[in-house]
Amino acid sequence: MTDFAADSILVLLDVTPDGALAGSSAGLLGAASLVGTPVALVVSDNADLPAAAAGLGAATVLTSTPADAKALSAGAVDALAAAVELVRPDAVLVSNSIDGRDIAGRFAARVGAAIASDAVGVARDDEGIVAQHSVYGGAYNVTSAATFGPLVVTLRQGAVDARADAKPVQVEALQVTASDKPAAVVESFEALVATSSRPELRGAAKVVSGGRGLGSKDQFALVEQLADALGAAVGASRAAVDAGYIPQSHQVGQTGVSVAPQLYIALGISGAIQHKAGMQTSKTIVAINKDAEAPIFEVADFGIVGDLFTVVPQLISALEANKAK
Ligand code: FAD
Repeated sequence: MTDFAADSILVLLDVTPDGALAGSSAGLLGAASLVGTPVALVVSDNADLPAAAAGLGAATVLTSTPADAKALSAGAVDALAAAVELVRPDAVLVSNSIDGRDIAGRFAARVGAAIASDAVGVARDDEGIVAQHSVYGGAYNVTSAATFGPLVVTLRQGAVDARADAKPVQVEALQVTASDKPAAVVESFEALVATSSRPELRGAAKVVSGGRGLGSKDQFALVEQLADALGAAVGASRAAVDAGYIPQSHQVGQTGVSVAPQLYIALGISGAIQHKAGMQTSKTIVAINKDAEAPIFEVADFGIVGDLFTVVPQLISALEANKAK
């Protein structure tokens, strides 16, 4: 049986519906490597995943096959409980995805552990692992820590740039006793066919978002054109969503998706606190707004005061001309 390092950080990796490691895996293992030795847990019967996890920096990969693949999260919580018992980690890192939040919450409730949700980073101090958060619309950076037991942290996707070095593959099959806790069961599902070749908003490296300043659904196409020129995902403010320019799944902010891309471009968005809450941890923020006093400029790294209908077509032409070179 493997001896686990005293500074082990247990990382639960999400698995996509088609059986691959989720895009959040590299950031989770990268974050774990900053504060300890990453030990991955993969709940899947895909035999290729341990090598993929080791390639992203997992020193050891624990595997568990879900007893009932139709039961939502219960099997993963059982596996996480068994893994924590075995590894005795300093912290448990989980993606702040829908599945990750569900599993982390159930696990923390089951074992009475402290949970720090939607963290944007982790660090280690004299007493253990601390989670870093961006709160009140990004106005404050705060930290949280557990007074006992391993801290369970759900990490915002895209928030951590660090990547761990690849490790030799070391796999251990986890012995899991099913708790038989009640679980919702998926009776059937219908996969949504992706109708767009654009990246997913959550986890995208680049996001172009449009607001009420676009003026109409037809004119919102300009946001999509700039996104396509950059290979970016499309986001929106709530005002743009409420006005019917784009479906709610694209809303960025407090009641939408939180993003932390390398590049966030805000077009015709004023920068209300509820919008900033979902994008302020982006690495580089560019704002285009005709109002020089718009609050979005307070968080922008680069700002253009001007009419977006004049600026954006020029930007797209410049990008296309650059590509043609
Ligand atoms: P506006 O505030 O109307 O701003 C439009 C901007 O476009 C202005 O700054 C204007 O100068 C600029 N503009 C206009 N024409 C042009 C042009 N031609 N060229 C350049 N600039 C132009 N909002 C979110 O976004 N996400 C959320 O998750 C969210 N959750 C909320 C939750 C609660 C509980 C509440 C109360 C509100 C929430 N809101 C959210 C709404 C939020 O308060 C704002 O109303 C919203 O973000 C405003 O959207 P906007 O910036 O597109 O519109």
